[in-house]
Amino acid sequence: MRKFNAVVLGAGGVGKSALTIRFGMNQFIEQYNPTIEEEYRCELIVDGQKCSLEILDTPGTEQFTAFNEKYLKNARGFLLVFSLTQESSLRDIDTIRQQIYLTRGADKDIPIVVVGTKLDLSNEREVSRATIHDLAQSWKLPFYETSAKRNWHVADVFEDLVRQMRKR
Ligand code: GDP
Ligand code: MG
Repeated sequence: MRKFNAVVLGAGGVGKSALTIRFGMNQFIEQYNPTIEEEYRCELIVDGQKCSLEILDTPGTEQFTAFNEKYLKNARGFLLVFSLTQESSLRDIDTIRQQIYLTRGADKDIPIVVVGTKLDLSNEREVSRATIHDLAQSWKLPFYETSAKRNWHVADVFEDLVRQMRKR
């Protein structure tokens, strides 16, 4: 069985932990300690093949200037997580995205998935589907709109990442 590892990155409060815990434990957590760094390991079947995935949920930080490079150096894949209800969180993942390419240099095909969260909060939505579609296209990255609360499209995110990681 192949083993992969991935890191979940994005601003504080966007729903990184909720997404990871929904996928890893099929639960929705209303409140989760924002400072905790936690690793989840799960087995999943993608396209009929079983694999093991280690997911590192990183603590939320508002500032990525002093961004911890250890996350960028060691992962096989990345989830760039922003909240559909917070436009500024989209800018944050652009900064992180650029950091990844700076850190990983020549590797332009590094597996990355862009994840918009809180799709269920439609009244609070600030980022339109067209905006994220166009941006993701310019970045040449796949994107998903998800809700950890309702368990919408959460598995799709991780399966996409596994497919990308398998190709390498
Ligand atoms: P993190 O700092 O990025 O890990 O964010 P958390 O996962 O701790 O989530 C921050 C807040 O947003 C918590 O109160 C979560 O319950 C809430 N949240 C996360 N995902 C969703 C979602 O899909 N829908 C709704 N309605 N709330 C969410
Ligand atoms: Mg968290």
